[in-house]
Amino acid sequence: MEAQAIIGADGPSSATARGANLARRQEAGVCIEYEMAAVNIDPGAAEMYFGTKAAPGGYAWIIPLGEDVANVGVGTRPAYLHGRRIHDILDSFIADHRIAKDKLRGGKVTAVMRGVVPAGGMPPAIQRGNVLLAGDAAGMVMATSGGGIPLAMVGGALAGEVAARAVSGDGSLTDYTLRIAEAMGRELKNSVRIREVVDRTLRSDRLMDGLFAMLPADQMKATMRGQIPKALERAQDIIKKRSTTPSGSGEGSE
Ligand SMILES: Cc1cc2nc3c(=O)[nH]c(=O)nc-3n(C[C@H](O)[C@H](O)[C@H](O)COP(=O)(O)OP(=O)(O)OC[C@H]3O[C@@H](n4cnc5c(N)ncnc54)[C@H](O)[C@@H]3O)c2cc1C
Repeated sequence: MEAQAIIGADGPSSATARGANLARRQEAGVCIEYEMAAVNIDPGAAEMYFGTKAAPGGYAWIIPLGEDVANVGVGTRPAYLHGRRIHDILDSFIADHRIAKDKLRGGKVTAVMRGVVPAGGMPPAIQRGNVLLAGDAAGMVMATSGGGIPLAMVGGALAGEVAARAVSGDGSLTDYTLRIAEAMGRELKNSVRIREVVDRTLRSDRLMDGLFAMLPADQMKATMRGQIPKALERAQDIIKKRSTTPSGSGEGSE
């Protein structure tokens, strides 16, 4: 007997997606994260650090879990590693970054997490026949930040709802694509577009500084959430011009 509905929520290397012929090769990030205790952090602030040395091709983060406990990690993409190992990049961020080292000195690593994160948005189809994909299996990750937990929760809930209705005769599995598009389609597409713009700056600290200087804090937040503020549209034009001139490609140190 064949299942009426199968929900593939089996992560970025989803066997369900491959089995249903829904998988595709796409840009992916690699991340490593330490849970650290006894750190001297601001428990009210999630911090992101950019720079060709601290986090080539991505960013490093300090995300508080409590008064003196935090997740400290780095995410990048293989094309930016140039033979460096990602855990060496994280260790060097913790030991040497001019701001982070004071916050993390003496911290104890209590857990290590690592993995792959989709960075190219959703595949052309997330439903075929009796299969629905949700979460990382469906590329539901903000390409701007690598954050996929909230989207996986929304995607999983909608997949469950659509599947339950379909098996009780009140709807169809084909409703899923539209439900997901309404819930997150635009933001996910935008986040890939934004990542492609930001990618033009990631090999140059000078270009990155220029981009961030153009985005006030509120617009930076909107950008991370997959909204495209006017300033980013302007920045895109400027980056295009500057990155095609020889002076726009200098590597920086941090
Ligand atoms: C180091 C790191 C840090 C991150 N930090 C953040 C963060 O701070 N905020 C954020 O929003 N996102 C973060 N992410 C991304 C986030 O973890 C994912 O987007 C999210 O977990 C996706 O959830 P998921 O349920 O789709 O997939 P997963 O969390 O990968 O869960 C899939 C599950 O399916 C299981 N599975 C796979 N194959 C099979 C099989 N054949 N049979 C049975 N079970 C199977 C796996 O064991 C796993 O338990 C991070 C990712 C990494 C790697």
